[in-house]
Amino acid sequence: MPAETRLFRCLSDNYGVLLHDPETGATASIDAPEAAPIEAALRQTGWTLTDILVTHHHHDHVGGIAALKAKYKCRVVAPEKGTDIPGVDEAVREGDKVKVGNLTANVIATPGHTLDHIAYWFHQDKLAFVGDTLFSIGCGRVIEGDAAMMWASLKKLRDLPNDTDIFCGHEYTLANIKFARTVEPDNAALQAREAEAKQEVAKNRPTIPVTIGEEKKANPFLRADIPEVAAGIGMAGKPAAEVFAEIRARKNKF
Ligand SMILES: [Zn+2]
Repeated sequence: MPAETRLFRCLSDNYGVLLHDPETGATASIDAPEAAPIEAALRQTGWTLTDILVTHHHHDHVGGIAALKAKYKCRVVAPEKGTDIPGVDEAVREGDKVKVGNLTANVIATPGHTLDHIAYWFHQDKLAFVGDTLFSIGCGRVIEGDAAMMWASLKKLRDLPNDTDIFCGHEYTLANIKFARTVEPDNAALQAREAEAKQEVAKNRPTIPVTIGEEKKANPFLRADIPEVAAGIGMAGKPAAEVFAEIRARKNKF
């Protein structure tokens, strides 16, 4: 039986998401921005929380763990390099597998935004939970790592199968598109994504998940090694990591 997901808003612009295995009843919260909306989603679905899978140590991803663990006695899986993550039961790293009931994730190390950052890829279910590494038409700020590290992490996510649904940690899509259009004003896939995202936002619906196949046609942060993108920002022939660093720097000032 395929995995089920439930996506909902937390804090000001975070996403919470539950992943449910209908065979065993196991249910994971991917990160835990705050307890109340996660508990509300559990009540609405009738699911019981068994696991929390943490992507990185930032407070808006771990702030709800203590309350949820106290209530549900759930297992907390977190990156082994994570600091200040409460209640960790299992520390994982790249190459490890994490089970949620009968569902299995591969752990992918995606440092850059933070040094501990990991993503969870449920390959059989074609789902990837990427936290603050990749956003739709954007990527996380490079806070603890450097641009080359972040570019390498994004390339790993770009290499996932095209039909993989990407769940990210924040709803930033429209703001990201506004910036992306300054990098690739003539990208037709980006223009189509803008029209689609505006419709979703107007209906108060999330703009995610989005497939990696769609994302790599329109997200400039996944396109730093495309010659036209480099040329478009006056960096023809430069190494992709440098082009990526320039795009990220421009976004920081945008
Ligand atoms: Zn973060």
